[in-house]
Amino acid sequence: MKRLLLLSIITITLALSVDAQNYTVNSPDGRLKVDINCTSGKVYYSVSLNGKEFLKQSQLGLVTTVGDFSENLTPKDFKTEAIAFSYDSKVLKLSHIDVSATRAVLSLYQNNRPAIDLVFMLKNNDLAFKYVVYPQPNPKSPTEPFACAVINNEKSFFNFPDGTTTFLSPQMKGQTGWARTAPSYEQPYFADDKTGKNANGLGFIFPALFHVPNGWVLVSETGVTSAYCASHITCEGGASYKVAFPLEEDYNGNGSSAPGISLLGETPWRTISLGETLAPIVETTIPWDFVEPLYAPSKNYTYGAGTWSWIIGFDESVNFQEQKRYIDFTADLGFVSQIVDNWWDTQITRDSIEILAKYAKQKGTSLCLWYNSNGYWNDAPQGPKHIMNNIIKRRREMAWMQSIGIRGIKVDFLGSDKQQTMQLYEDILADANDFGLEVIFHGATLPRGWEIMYPNFIGSEAVLASENLHFGDDFCRQESYNATLHPIIRNSVAAMDYGGITFNNYFNSTNDTTMWGGHRVTSDVFQMAVAVLFQCPLNHTALYYNVLPKEQWKLDFVKQCPTLWDDIKFIDGYPGKYLIIARRSGSKWYIAAINAQKEPLKRTLNLDFINGGVTVYADDAKLNGSMKQVTPKKNMLQITVPHDGATIIVGNSK
Ligand code: CA
Repeated sequence: MKRLLLLSIITITLALSVDAQNYTVNSPDGRLKVDINCTSGKVYYSVSLNGKEFLKQSQLGLVTTVGDFSENLTPKDFKTEAIAFSYDSKVLKLSHIDVSATRAVLSLYQNNRPAIDLVFMLKNNDLAFKYVVYPQPNPKSPTEPFACAVINNEKSFFNFPDGTTTFLSPQMKGQTGWARTAPSYEQPYFADDKTGKNANGLGFIFPALFHVPNGWVLVSETGVTSAYCASHITCEGGASYKVAFPLEEDYNGNGSSAPGISLLGETPWRTISLGETLAPIVETTIPWDFVEPLYAPSKNYTYGAGTWSWIIGFDESVNFQEQKRYIDFTADLGFVSQIVDNWWDTQITRDSIEILAKYAKQKGTSLCLWYNSNGYWNDAPQGPKHIMNNIIKRRREMAWMQSIGIRGIKVDFLGSDKQQTMQLYEDILADANDFGLEVIFHGATLPRGWEIMYPNFIGSEAVLASENLHFGDDFCRQESYNATLHPIIRNSVAAMDYGGITFNNYFNSTNDTTMWGGHRVTSDVFQMAVAVLFQCPLNHTALYYNVLPKEQWKLDFVKQCPTLWDDIKFIDGYPGKYLIIARRSGSKWYIAAINAQKEPLKRTLNLDFINGGVTVYADDAKLNGSMKQVTPKKNMLQITVPHDGATIIVGNSK
């Protein structure tokens, strides 16, 4: 648990008569600064780092059914306090996190009554803000004030400086895509695009990366529960972006696109991570720093690597014999889990699942079962259906799963960011915890602080994931390009169930062109590097028992690569071009370098955080991998990474 340490408090009570008032919030090291400006009843903020502009003056405010809190606001109190605390987690990119922050609260009045508070948290390279909304008088019933409200419009803007480029993924139109399952956060990120666009006219999902003239800015949100919707951003012209709510058509038009809150109530945190380099973004912990567990774990959840037959064998692999073979394979690899994907209810049946679950237990592994989320919001035919959407059927099913030793569930096709859907996510998670089940979501929204908030939450897809490698060669050709983006953008803010790592040349069970399945163009060492680059505490891979590398060291690497990490370092990279990051597990550092550019990437790495010799896995120009032991000279190591190839360096921590 997080124990808050309050270091100091400064309160300023403000004169009400001055038209323009300015307040400044400084980060603990004084480098990050938020300037708040109240002029003519409106509130604006701007953000600078080391005296350089990162966000221009941008408006804040809410329009609600109990009042328009975007204008006619008068600042009343301004309070700042220095806070510090630490917390630990097994499942995040860091295992121990020290937080020091400046908390600032600006109380804004309307008609001489409390209207909203603006709450800011400033770390040295992160800023989070949220709104607190006060109960408001009901003109028709003076003794019974409004105790709830609908937020119709959030006027939180992010105005970027001239010269900013964007790394954004479009918001998907509701009720489109496979069997009307969108939006599912499965559109590409476009690197270094111009500002001023609005994709399909619908805006862009979180997280959103911006390359500003003085550095990098990642915008996202955290702390989203059933008490609010998930949001995204729209471009309001030029380099001005604004928080936007889900679309009416999401979830088959069911549920409201505008969130409802009780009063006193609040919004989720809007988060901004920024730095002169990408390091503070890749290393950020802002999604988890200011959220709390919403329930206690019902058991000691465990993690590790796993297998996933569907990504190679597709629906045909979901049969008793093949799943039994995969249990043997999972056990041989020393992995802990296996996903039994869609149609198991008819192609395997419940009785046979019980036999498989028992067999997995004997072999020291476990099963996760796939479920369709619906319900009344998509046309996806895959079963089992109509269980996870209903509390009675869901809890009965979960009791059955618990009784036969199932590890967890993978729920697919949720297709909406509405508050009603956030309620479903939360209900599934809370019920699953009652029965000791871990939860993975696919066809899903971005998790927003959920690893801490819901202790049995594992990770979500919410990315254009490995299934697209199966679906086509075009995506295979983009594999290294996408892999340079995800650790900086999507995976920076939440565990990502990508389903990668394979030695198949083709994403099918014949491993050739006789069957449908994309042709892999990345190297084997690149596939090994994915185990380091992409983070998910229970990581189901695309390894296939019939296609294993000739070189034992390749398989050995994948077998022993951790899925839980203690530390992360961004070393070098540019999203869409190349990436070098390091993760530490226990006393070992794993450094992975990949290159999506046509020309080879040559770098000299400073390994001053590593003690002694290292193991280097590297590709030659023809993507043939080799493994060797190297002792870096004066901590320096030269690497050359070919297009679609990788270098991995493993060494002991100093
Ligand atoms: Ca998907």
